[in-house]
Amino acid sequence: MITTVHKIEELIILLKKDFNSIGLVPTMGNLHQGHLSLLQRSVKENSLSVLTIFVNPKQFGPHEDFDNYPRTLKEDIQSIKELNLTKDVLIFAPSSDDMFPPDFKTSIIVEDLSEDLCGRDRPGHFNGVTTVVYRLFSLIKPTRAYFGLKDYQQYLLIKKMTEDLILPVEIIGSQIIRDVDGLALSSRNNLLKEGEKKLALHLSKTLKKIEKIIISNGLRAAKKMIDDELRSNPSWDYLKVLRADDLKIPSDEDLSSLIVAGAYKIRKTRLIDNIVIKND
Ligand code: AMP
Repeated sequence: MITTVHKIEELIILLKKDFNSIGLVPTMGNLHQGHLSLLQRSVKENSLSVLTIFVNPKQFGPHEDFDNYPRTLKEDIQSIKELNLTKDVLIFAPSSDDMFPPDFKTSIIVEDLSEDLCGRDRPGHFNGVTTVVYRLFSLIKPTRAYFGLKDYQQYLLIKKMTEDLILPVEIIGSQIIRDVDGLALSSRNNLLKEGEKKLALHLSKTLKKIEKIIISNGLRAAKKMIDDELRSNPSWDYLKVLRADDLKIPSDEDLSSLIVAGAYKIRKTRLIDNIVIKND
């Protein structure tokens, strides 16, 4: 059964039952197959799944797309229904005031990992993410929580927060879902105008090219390619190769797993994507 609730008190009542395990899938809604794949995995692995839909004001900067962010609750509920899931799913879609009452004063900051990549371009963004995720963890007490590796830095930060604060939840990172052309699915793809999707493909294609160069010619050659690309194309917010486990800059001889990460702007729409190159 699929049940939708909007109020914290309603959610608490529904969660009073004894569940063997609870899977949590936090989202901002406008669901696509990327989100739904997390939910499907949660349903497989838990007796109850809670999917939250909340466009979190704390993770948007003053000039970002909070007002424009697509909000499609009715369609989201319909897409979940169409999955024909065999177990119970709770959709929790609170209001801003319910999630963050006006006298809310706390912020969770994970140092270091939040400083590069999206943290540099979007100051305060990750504090907003970790604060809302912590609040959801406290409220829902999930056994497992599911995050997409598309937001790799977010996934690492949440893992670190969970480890540092000894939170009793297993953090699961799930593979990036892409369309047939290789574009990573994102709610922000819906903000692209006709023809802009083609431009957006430059993001995943460039990451793939860099991955190939790292594998065939090494890191030094890849860094040169990145420098050339950044110089010739102003649409990049960032394009970097970092160590995948701590987001530090690798030396040319580094044998760690690596992440090639990019943030690419098309007009006001900023898309992110990454490829992890495992070295195990
Ligand atoms: P969002 O609604 O953008 O905050 O995303 C909610 C969750 O879905 C996050 O854990 C994202 O990493 C994940 N997600 C978004 N897009 C994808 C995708 N294309 N593939 C896998 N997971 C995704």
